[in-house]
Amino acid sequence: MSDYKFYDQVNKAFDKAAAYTRFEKGLLEQIKSCNDVLHIAFPIEKDDGSIEVIQGWRVEHSHHKLPTKGGIRYSMMVNEDETMALAALMTYKCAVVNVPFGGAKGGIMIERNNYSERELERITRRYTFQLMNKNFIGPGIDVPAPDYGTSAREMGWIMDTYRQMSSEIDAEGCVTGKPLNQGGIRGRTEATGRGVFFGIQEACTNKEDMESIGLDGGIEGKTFVVQGLGNVGYHAAKNMVESGAVMVGVAEIDGSIYNENGIDLDKLMEFKKTSGGITGFEGTKTLKDSSAVLEAECDILIPAALENQLNKKNANKIKAKIIGEAANGPTTTEAHEIIKKRGALIIPDNYLNAGGVTVSYFEWLKNIQHVRFGRMGKRFEEESYTRILSVIETVSDRRFTDKELKHLAKGGGEAELVDAGLKDTMVDSYNEINELRKVHDVDLRTAAFINAINKLGEIYEQMGIFP
Ligand code: NAD
Repeated sequence: MSDYKFYDQVNKAFDKAAAYTRFEKGLLEQIKSCNDVLHIAFPIEKDDGSIEVIQGWRVEHSHHKLPTKGGIRYSMMVNEDETMALAALMTYKCAVVNVPFGGAKGGIMIERNNYSERELERITRRYTFQLMNKNFIGPGIDVPAPDYGTSAREMGWIMDTYRQMSSEIDAEGCVTGKPLNQGGIRGRTEATGRGVFFGIQEACTNKEDMESIGLDGGIEGKTFVVQGLGNVGYHAAKNMVESGAVMVGVAEIDGSIYNENGIDLDKLMEFKKTSGGITGFEGTKTLKDSSAVLEAECDILIPAALENQLNKKNANKIKAKIIGEAANGPTTTEAHEIIKKRGALIIPDNYLNAGGVTVSYFEWLKNIQHVRFGRMGKRFEEESYTRILSVIETVSDRRFTDKELKHLAKGGGEAELVDAGLKDTMVDSYNEINELRKVHDVDLRTAAFINAINKLGEIYEQMGIFP
């Protein structure tokens, strides 16, 4: 859709929420503006010896806190407008989940599947070099992470390039979402999808809210459709299924499939690996095209691919009662209003997919502290719990089995602490924005924006203007 302007959509949602805050126009404009926009064009040598010029962007939306933080996307849809919109969303998202970063985003306009691994490495390393050259990367400056089309592999290349050229002791903190043996953290790969699940679960826990949209409380037994079985979509779906929800539909680039009785996620992933797509998967009906399943019968729809998926063309046909925005910007402003009028609950991207940046924050803390979470406390905790359990055995008839002792005396290692921190963040933030939703009688997206603007506005007011 050529008239689609993503940054404009984000600003419309901002303006709507700003009307519920006390800040003056100039200060709101200060919050809204993108502070730095970098557009670069650089050559790489392809495997056949030819030269190709690559277009890339990095946008730092807000410097109210440093470093700025945001993913790097590899897609043919990357452009300046999209990168500015995604950077702005990062600022608001970090504020909503109380992660002390400004928002940023990066992107390279390539179709990743058209390049060999070596070519992708050259692109990633050269892009990193350009960011260093322009002072757009560093543990205290701007810290990228994975996004659409990138993964831990690319983050490892970024870190290695940065470290080769910098003597900083905190160099590992220049990027997050890295492989574990290169300074990554347990739980980062699955964090965004798991956070999406925690957010949907928290919404479903609220019986009153569920009744208002005609659903029972809880996740168990609820049907869902997921669009995009990539990093975020797969992990969100996996957590949903493990909690008893039923995956009835899936969309991928090659098409969409549906089975009202449920689709086996693990077998589908195996099938996707061997066939390269999802259509034709045993026991499912292949629908007209990849967007058809968005209109299918289900309780929860999880768009986890790209922006502008729920728009004025299909909004009227969407039957889901809950839209869990795992992707950034999947619902246009017009579609949002249409879906809302139909009585559905939209859990917005500026809260719901914040699990990734939350665990990235933990990874960055680990990198600048140079110590793994739980390294010093785990054994101490386990020995303390063991002593308490043995006192209980001494003063009562209760005898614990070895299995019980192991379970009850388990201390918090990195994986457990990260998961607990992620859940706590997603649950608390949901309740914070849900409270604002009720106070102002608005939708959750507007409530999340109000929450972010209030926090940002206070910081900007206190900072004043330099010089
Ligand atoms: P990914 O590249 O791992 O996966 C995206 C998947 O969507 C791919 O499998 C792709 O084939 C599929 N897809 C693309 N177009 C589609 C279409 N039209 N219909 C159906 N499927 C389609 O990317 P990801 O990291 O999972 O990111 C997905 C979304 O989540 C993006 O909007 C991204 O900005 C957002 N997000 C990602 C993270 C993260 O940590 N990776 C964090 C926050 C938000």
